[in-house]
Amino acid sequence: MSASIIVLVEHLKGNIPEISYEMLGVARKIADASGGKVYALIAGKGSSALATGLGAADVALVLEDSSADVMNDDVLIEALKQAINEKQATLVLVGCTNISFGIGTRLALRSGMPFINWVKDIKTTEGEMVVTSALFGGKVLSDIVLKDKKGILGILSGVFPPDAGKIAKQPSIEHIAKPEIKSKITFRSLMEPKAGDIDISRMDVLVSVGRGIQSPDNIPLAEELANALGGAVSSSRPVVDQGWLPLTRQVGKSGMNVSPELYLALGISGAPEHYEGMKGAKLVVAINTDPKAPIFDFAHYGAVVDCLEIIELLKEEIQKRKGTQ
Ligand SMILES: Cc1cc2nc3c(=O)[nH]c(=O)nc-3n(C[C@H](O)[C@H](O)[C@H](O)COP(=O)(O)OP(=O)(O)OC[C@H]3O[C@@H](n4cnc5c(N)ncnc54)[C@H](O)[C@@H]3O)c2cc1C
Repeated sequence: MSASIIVLVEHLKGNIPEISYEMLGVARKIADASGGKVYALIAGKGSSALATGLGAADVALVLEDSSADVMNDDVLIEALKQAINEKQATLVLVGCTNISFGIGTRLALRSGMPFINWVKDIKTTEGEMVVTSALFGGKVLSDIVLKDKKGILGILSGVFPPDAGKIAKQPSIEHIAKPEIKSKITFRSLMEPKAGDIDISRMDVLVSVGRGIQSPDNIPLAEELANALGGAVSSSRPVVDQGWLPLTRQVGKSGMNVSPELYLALGISGAPEHYEGMKGAKLVVAINTDPKAPIFDFAHYGAVVDCLEIIELLKEEIQKRKGTQ
């Protein structure tokens, strides 16, 4: 059976994020293998102009709405549902992102298709399609066989190559009407994080602390190490959630994207949501007491040791080598 795949393409302030290209790339691969088609559904203000660049799709389904900087979720879900019926879609791909999160679940309820979230791999064979879902922050990987190769998939950011979704040709454009539905959701305004004292996205060196740092009293130790390295302190989300550091220091899906020359992770497990924000780091050094921590899967260097035992030693060694001690 040939695949008919709908990709929900996100955009904000005229930019299409990498996750949309990642999904288009993997959709293209699956469609090509089965002689199928890829449809890119894009909605809201400026969609018509952006749609012309979605060359990995055969057809761009465009819901232009000059009044919607951010398209209403209920309208999007209804548009997707109609497109599923019209195009006899076998797969729908939506991003596990702040913009699209929640759409897959509700679309599944309204369309009757099964939904799998946190997807980090899709394997297709002649006989079946197996989807790998990363549960509990990546600690459990679950392989699910899609019945009749049909389903709605919430795709994790950073797991498929975006370049595969950037094809320099123009898709056919099909304009779709805005569904007339009543929604209880009203978009008021976009709230963006205020710039903090330090912009961690511009730092060359980050000493990043996770729950393993154990207490706010230990943050100054990390700051001293960061100073010795000429960098700044960033963190995982639990550290921010507990109020130990401001939101401006959070790396990850709901924080900042960083791409330093050195990312020194102290007591960070390496959950997919954290990885999403630091995957651009050139060199990752991880210190963790758990040899099975997922961060060791992508760190370039690692040490299985209590970070509190090593911070002071590291700082002294760096100061000694720099001649600042
Ligand atoms: C929608 C959504 C958005 C999210 N956004 C983000 C985000 O933006 N950023 C983010 O970081 N997370 C985010 N998360 C949370 C994410 O799933 C993880 O829960 C989080 O990243 C875990 O943080 P952590 O590694 O500090 O803590 P844990 O997972 O608890 O890991 C702590 C690690 O420290 C190690 N450790 C303990 N003691 C020591 C010690 N003394 N020395 C060395 N190592 C030690 C442990 O072995 C463990 O690996 C999000 C989750 C969701 C659902």
